[in-house]
Amino acid sequence: MAGRILVVDDIATNRMILRAKLASSYYDVVQAESGVEALEKTHIFQPDLILLDIVMPDMNGFEVCRKLKGDPKTAHIPVVMVTALIEPGDRLRGLECGADDFLSKPINDLALLSRVRNLLRAKFMFDELRLRDKTTQELGLGEPILDDFDAATLPGRVTLVPTNSKMAQVWEEQLSPHPSVSTKVMLAEHEVIELDSPDIPDVFVIHARLGAFGDGLRLVSHLRSRPRTRHTGVILVVPDGDQEKAAKGLDLGASDYIFDPFDASEMLVRINSQIRRKHISDRLRSNVTDTLRLAVLDPLTGLYNRRYATQHLEKITERARESGKGFALMVLDIDKFKRVNDNYGHNEGDQILKEFSRRIQENLRGVDLVSRIGGEEFLIAMPDTSENEARIASERLRKVIEQTPFPCAAREGGLHITVSIGVTLGDPGEQDVESLICQADKALYASKADGRNMVTLFTSAA
Ligand SMILES: [Mg+2]
Repeated sequence: MAGRILVVDDIATNRMILRAKLASSYYDVVQAESGVEALEKTHIFQPDLILLDIVMPDMNGFEVCRKLKGDPKTAHIPVVMVTALIEPGDRLRGLECGADDFLSKPINDLALLSRVRNLLRAKFMFDELRLRDKTTQELGLGEPILDDFDAATLPGRVTLVPTNSKMAQVWEEQLSPHPSVSTKVMLAEHEVIELDSPDIPDVFVIHARLGAFGDGLRLVSHLRSRPRTRHTGVILVVPDGDQEKAAKGLDLGASDYIFDPFDASEMLVRINSQIRRKHISDRLRSNVTDTLRLAVLDPLTGLYNRRYATQHLEKITERARESGKGFALMVLDIDKFKRVNDNYGHNEGDQILKEFSRRIQENLRGVDLVSRIGGEEFLIAMPDTSENEARIASERLRKVIEQTPFPCAAREGGLHITVSIGVTLGDPGEQDVESLICQADKALYASKADGRNMVTLFTSAA
């Protein structure tokens, strides 16, 4: 996992030292010697990470960071501030400007490289999501997620996992005056692991040393290996100065770490930044899922489309072959639907299609697959279904359409709609999907020819 890193420092020696350390780990390094140059090079080279000096003559690191984080084109690039003197106030100021972490000079290699790895991993994951989101938009399938989304205003839920109840009390007191963060304490490791989806917080704050037998690092890697908690923020609290433990935690998947005892304001800024990240990536992820859903669903009726139905039928045929149980296939066509569109317009036509789909779905089992395969043409696959069951089901569908008029704004009393249905049975033997659909079509054609509003069962003699 290589990446491009921009090193910003006004002193050449400092840049050389960092460059050497990073290049030996195969990172591609770009340098800038002033704040202004840093901003320029960020736009030109689009680095994956920026190591930023604080004290520089033209523009200090805080200001550079604020500018980078305030620009949508560069806001997603992680920034680590590098400085000789870190006052507690500086840390807070830097974090509030949007910096992701601090490193002090002289630089500890372990701290540097584990932090870089960790931030790059998060960045690449995020880039991938942003890319998919972009594709979604370009295909016209989704709304832009990042443009108007203000994650900073969203409240977050935090689960604290301290060493003991005494520490729990201290942590809660430190974090409780902040209304945007709601905290909950868990002292037993297994409780955390067994959390159900609705109870999973936006961020876990975990102490590296848990109780008598617990190990915070083990808990971190547990949480990371589970799908439910894979994307939750994890802040590891590490005994002061234990750089090795911090590095190990980051490599195991912690999103961030802080030394114990921590400053409450710093912890809050770090928590908030994790909450924000979580909200944004949740949004991106759900947008991508929606897109996949859109690729297999008919947007008007919410039924599956032809592409999905055909693929699914292959599976039903396969399963029938294995289980030895037959299945039924129906093709439905709304009678004289063109007239509805011609007389009442396409909007009314769409309403009829929706209501039709609703009635069909309500009168089938959950395992039956209903799909819209053409304008007013539908296909239904019913697994584990006998001939008699198929007859009963198709007749029920025909009736449920005919019995009650369809609501229509342009016509009082609604519209009288009927449907013609062709049914065929898939036996567990050799049969391909295309020829089955063809059989059902033939039966449907017979229903139409015989006067519509009827069910015809395909027989090989027909
Ligand atoms: Mg400097």
